[in-house]
Amino acid sequence: MSEPATPEPLADFVNLMNAFGEGVRRAVVAYIEDMRPLIDELARIAALPEVQAELRRRKAEGPPPRRRSCHCLCGVIHPADRGICDTFAPMTTVHRWSELTGDVDVPTCGPCAAADAARRLLAPG
Ligand SMILES: [Zn+2]
Ligand SMILES: [Zn+2]
Repeated sequence: MSEPATPEPLADFVNLMNAFGEGVRRAVVAYIEDMRPLIDELARIAALPEVQAELRRRKAEGPPPRRRSCHCLCGVIHPADRGICDTFAPMTTVHRWSELTGDVDVPTCGPCAAADAARRLLAPG
């Protein structure tokens, strides 16, 4: 009686992975070839003088200013004036303290800061 053929799981795995890799390579090459007209068109548009001029202008201008958002807890801090919060108003910070967070400076929009200040004046503590 002859011994059964020795299984070679590692060799089988390597062959499967090689076949898988070849399948992925073919799919990627086919995808890139399908996309070639679009890539060529985008390259042509990017090279247009007016596009290049706009890119130089934006680069010279620098990044847009970072816009912060208001972190006021309107419903807690000024519940009577909830609708006043304005993300596009100038921002400031309001100093707050709680047992949970300790001292924190909260980014706050102008209207919320004014409402908070008014509340503190009218009901200190
Ligand atoms: Zn608010
Ligand atoms: Zn606000």
